[in-house]
Amino acid sequence: MQRPHRRLLVTSALPYANGAIHLGHLVEYIQTDIWVRFQRMRGHEVHYVGADDQHGTPIMLRAEKEGLTPRQLVDRVLHEHARDFFGGFNAQQQWQDSGDNAALGGFLISFDNYYETDAPENQWFCADIYTRLEQADLIARREVEQFYDPVKAMFLPDRFIKGECPKCGAKDQYGDSCEVCGATYAPTELKNAYSAVSGAAPVRRASEHYFFRLSAERCEAFLRTFTQGSGVLQPEAANKMKEWLGEPGDNKLSDWDISRDAPYFGFRIPGTDDKFFYVWLDAPVGYFGSFRNYVQKQKARGRDIDEAAFLDAAKARAEGTEMIHFIGKDILYFHALFWPAMLENSGYRTPTQINAHGFLTVDGAKMSKSRGTFITAQSYIDQGLNPEWLRYYFAAKLNGTMEDIDLNLEDFIARVNSDLIGKYINIASRCAGFLSKYFDGRLQTDVLKHQVEAAVEQGAAVAECFEARDYGRALRDIMAMADRINAEIAQLAPWNLAKDENKRAELHAICSKALHGFYVLSILLQPVLPRVASQVAKELFGLSRDFDWNDLAHAPERINPYRHLLTRIEQKQVDALLAANRESLQPSAAPAAASKPAAPEKTEQAPTIAIDDFLKVDLRVAQIVAAEHVEGADKLLKLTLSLGESQRQVFAGIKSAYAPEQLVGRLTVVVANLQPRKMKFGLSEGMVLAAGPGGKDIFLLSPDNGAQPGMQVK
Ligand SMILES: [Zn+2]
Repeated sequence: MQRPHRRLLVTSALPYANGAIHLGHLVEYIQTDIWVRFQRMRGHEVHYVGADDQHGTPIMLRAEKEGLTPRQLVDRVLHEHARDFFGGFNAQQQWQDSGDNAALGGFLISFDNYYETDAPENQWFCADIYTRLEQADLIARREVEQFYDPVKAMFLPDRFIKGECPKCGAKDQYGDSCEVCGATYAPTELKNAYSAVSGAAPVRRASEHYFFRLSAERCEAFLRTFTQGSGVLQPEAANKMKEWLGEPGDNKLSDWDISRDAPYFGFRIPGTDDKFFYVWLDAPVGYFGSFRNYVQKQKARGRDIDEAAFLDAAKARAEGTEMIHFIGKDILYFHALFWPAMLENSGYRTPTQINAHGFLTVDGAKMSKSRGTFITAQSYIDQGLNPEWLRYYFAAKLNGTMEDIDLNLEDFIARVNSDLIGKYINIASRCAGFLSKYFDGRLQTDVLKHQVEAAVEQGAAVAECFEARDYGRALRDIMAMADRINAEIAQLAPWNLAKDENKRAELHAICSKALHGFYVLSILLQPVLPRVASQVAKELFGLSRDFDWNDLAHAPERINPYRHLLTRIEQKQVDALLAANRESLQPSAAPAAASKPAAPEKTEQAPTIAIDDFLKVDLRVAQIVAAEHVEGADKLLKLTLSLGESQRQVFAGIKSAYAPEQLVGRLTVVVANLQPRKMKFGLSEGMVLAAGPGGKDIFLLSPDNGAQPGMQVK
């Protein structure tokens, strides 16, 4: 059975280098990794590359806050991301050298190369694409008036300007949209705007910006063909693009501002002194940068990959290579409009497929730090949970559309235990022992001829599902096969047959069928469960390699003694995971020192009060905008609190539990109408709320996500 040989360059979107990988990110990397592993099993040429997205103002400001250079920050984060994805660069190297999946850590994401955007290869491609666009008369320059922070001497991105919503008047809204009424607007429309960086009132200042002329007729014409009916996009994404493009003549596309003024962490635009490429220009180009870096590394190891066959428009067409992007639906605009239009007009190949997925919710809600459902990849691994459980669960939920997927924790436990342990593993654990004990591990292969034919057929159906990213359906088919095998085992009860020496032939037949079934299931599950499947291939069936798809066409002849493969998830492991991610228990960003909070102190409940008494207390959400030590005070920190429209100073006795830098930016709750109190160190205008007996065990209260400074607590 000869399949056409495909040559694939596959990417996952680049995670931003200012934070930890969490389970929401992992949906995409796991989705891509399953697809990539499936294609490799089919014998295709696959190059799977990724990188950290490292430029832009947020990185610059975050580094400054941490007292690092941007380069130091992105270096650290790169290694954290590599650890979470595949156990770090050493593990990746070992896996590449040995082909052994047991070498990979983290979530077993099998990138062939994981790189970074702040790299010379990427800078080269950015400059090349830009220069070619300029030669094609697709770069324009125009004066743009923007908000400028006179204290920090920098232009402010929309997300760094706050003020009152022009529609509903809500305070402390971002410069692009209001979280209260949902209005979107330009930052210049905000009332009483202030810089989220320095707090200063921004001024308006003009500067020259560079634009990619997306509105040019040839860009629009290309994008119409590219996005409609070409099969590059999912139907729902193609419809979205139709909305954005409008009808011919609508001129709905605007030119895209691709420059930012200094100071900016990024690549300088060729021919300028103080203009930089906007981070969203160089991020997707990072796919090419990572691919070039990979091609060069492979070359050093004696393997030639024809770079131009994958990147150059004419060569890619001639050689039939494919470029497949996996992205979240929130960045469709960049990947389906800007990116292909840039490539088309600079002589590079355009994407063959853009596969968008939905967002992750946990227990039906947005991930929340206070509920502990904002789960980091690192905490999942550190708490000892098995990454293959999550890979299986996400796969069961993914169907190739842009629908959101929900991690329901109760269902997660039930499904993994029932499918993987109760159905799949159960087959081998119940039958392998009899083959080893009575038949020297040999399978009775002449009873399997029909089963092998069926396996090839079932494999073809499952392969179609994997190809279409309908992993949920693939797993339903696979588990239905497991159900049929288990039903036959239950009916023939090998444990009873084994007691009767006259029934050895029947025992041999059912156990051979069962182990062949287990072999087939393991092959089909390998893209999802690479570590377990690898162990099955090598330890149980004695192969010298992992499975490939063609293994379905043969029956195994013997097995080695069965060894334990996979454990059940316990509820308490999930509870511990949530506890580890619950922010109120872990107020510090410092390494979780696992210091257990003391048992709640026994305090007498205060006498009952009437509701009117409670309403006298004006509790407000406050943001800590500054925190500092107080000279001569060993318990107090001086906090500057923002209550939305006003600021005030409060002295809080929390120094034994918090360092000032841990507090800046945090939301808490303050008694706003407490009579100001003159203290030795100054005036205290309120009281922040905390729990705990004292010392290290003081826990500052936090409101849930979404609360805004100044909101009343009632
Ligand atoms: Zn509003």
